Amino acid sequence: MSYDRHNVFARILRGEIPCKKVYENAHALAFHDINPLMPVHVLVIPKGEYVSFVDFSAQASAEEQAGFVQAIGAAAKACGVAAGGYRLIANNGADAHQEVPHLHVHIFGGKPIPGRMIKQEGR
Ligand code: AMP
Repeated sequence: MSYDRHNVFARILRGEIPCKKVYENAHALAFHDINPLMPVHVLVIPKGEYVSFVDFSAQASAEEQAGFVQAIGAAAKACGVAAGGYRLIANNGADAHQEVPHLHVHIFGGKPIPGRMIKQEGR
């Protein structure tokens, strides 16, 4: 999928629309989701033009990839869920119902999260 420079996260990165920033480094930005589904619901995005993990992992530099991963951990710590626990989700593509075509990871937390997406009986 080609990158749409008019998507809402591209506009946040260009400063055209505001966000409630949680954390930022040279390669990534974390901010509160505008429609939180949990007490803590933060999004972490790379600053580069990537739609999904497929193109990010194939095309982003080692520094960009490291910066993005570092920002996810730092944002989890900054928003206060590191001790209690949190869930990371990244919707990629149509089947996953990705709404914004700029790579992002959701951080959910702030209370016990219902459901286990991967249940391994007997382990
Ligand atoms: P996804 O379905 O994984 O693409 O999720 C996109 C997320 O972006 C949703 O949780 C939206 O609430 C969130 N979102 C959309 N616009 C904004 C915005 N301007 N600021 C913060 N979050 C947003």
